[in-house]
Amino acid sequence: MDLKNLDNAWAREFPEPLIIAGPCSAESETQMLETARRIKESDANVSVFRAGIWKPRTKPNGFEGVGTIGLNWLKKVKEEYGFKTATEVANAHHVEAALKAEVDVLWIGARSTVNPFTVQEIATALNGTGKPVLVKNPVNPDLALWIGALERLLGQNVNNLGVIHRGFSTYQKTKYRNIPNWQIALDFKNEFPNIPMLVDPSHICGNRTGLAEIAQEALNVGYEGMIIESHCNPNEAWSDASQQITPEVLADLISKLQIRNTDISVFDGEMGRHRTLISDLDFNLIELLSQRMKISEKIGALKKENRIAIFQPDRWKVITEYAIQKADETGMSQEFIEKVFKAIHEESIEVQNKI
Ligand code: PEP
Ligand code: MN
Repeated sequence: MDLKNLDNAWAREFPEPLIIAGPCSAESETQMLETARRIKESDANVSVFRAGIWKPRTKPNGFEGVGTIGLNWLKKVKEEYGFKTATEVANAHHVEAALKAEVDVLWIGARSTVNPFTVQEIATALNGTGKPVLVKNPVNPDLALWIGALERLLGQNVNNLGVIHRGFSTYQKTKYRNIPNWQIALDFKNEFPNIPMLVDPSHICGNRTGLAEIAQEALNVGYEGMIIESHCNPNEAWSDASQQITPEVLADLISKLQIRNTDISVFDGEMGRHRTLISDLDFNLIELLSQRMKISEKIGALKKENRIAIFQPDRWKVITEYAIQKADETGMSQEFIEKVFKAIHEESIEVQNKI
């Protein structure tokens, strides 16, 4: 068996799209049961209830999860509301405890996917269990590392696999907590169209306002579902408060999504892909322009301090010559590139004038 011919019968047992929702972290039995009840009552079409039991935190001394006691609460959620359940495992001990508590779906977090020793340990602990496992993309934009994690699982006969696109870390301040980099996820999808891919808009956005757009974009390019954080009282959540939404907001978000047929026509599918890749590029263009303007501001301040004129014809000449040369090299029209750079330069002068 290799990754290209997994059969994915496990995923077909769930309604499509597969929606996994629940709090970032299990905090108390009351919080878990109230969240589950409200998700159930809101009719949000959620089939799996998620909650982090062990939380990987960037810094020590934060809330690191309630630990194994939370598994009892997941069990109660299953008994009382009929959801399947899911949690993150990051070592063999977690796997053992989650299996014992009959958690239905496990996921490997982004900070674990980066570490082959961790993935191997988890894979070995899962050998022979048939448990469905979802592998989040690694925090760094490395497609091979992501695929490698799946290969390690498959190497231990863990065949019920799926992936989660949760975005990638960046040092730049952007509107995303983790930039989507759709290109990487779509490259994965192209190579392994049979492996279900879910989007995690919560960890991509890091806020509530961008969730619907990311979820819709993922459905447009044929993702099989999503995992999204929902909490009965998001503002008071012990982790990831700013990105969690109430079950009612979740239901509203889901009801507004345009769910595509799975057999989207070739035209639609290709179109969706191209549009999504363009949204990666537009995001990068805007980020770069914003960084460029910030540097212009600094130059503006230096010019002011040293009483230098804002417009420096020599410098402008160097910039346009470089741009024109690059236009030639990349097969774009000189006229177009000149127009773009003129607009950028004008704005840059404007920014410096304001100082
Ligand atoms: C989570 O799902 O709560 C989580 C910790 O996600 P990630 O591994 O994507 O950061
Ligand atoms: Mn979280």
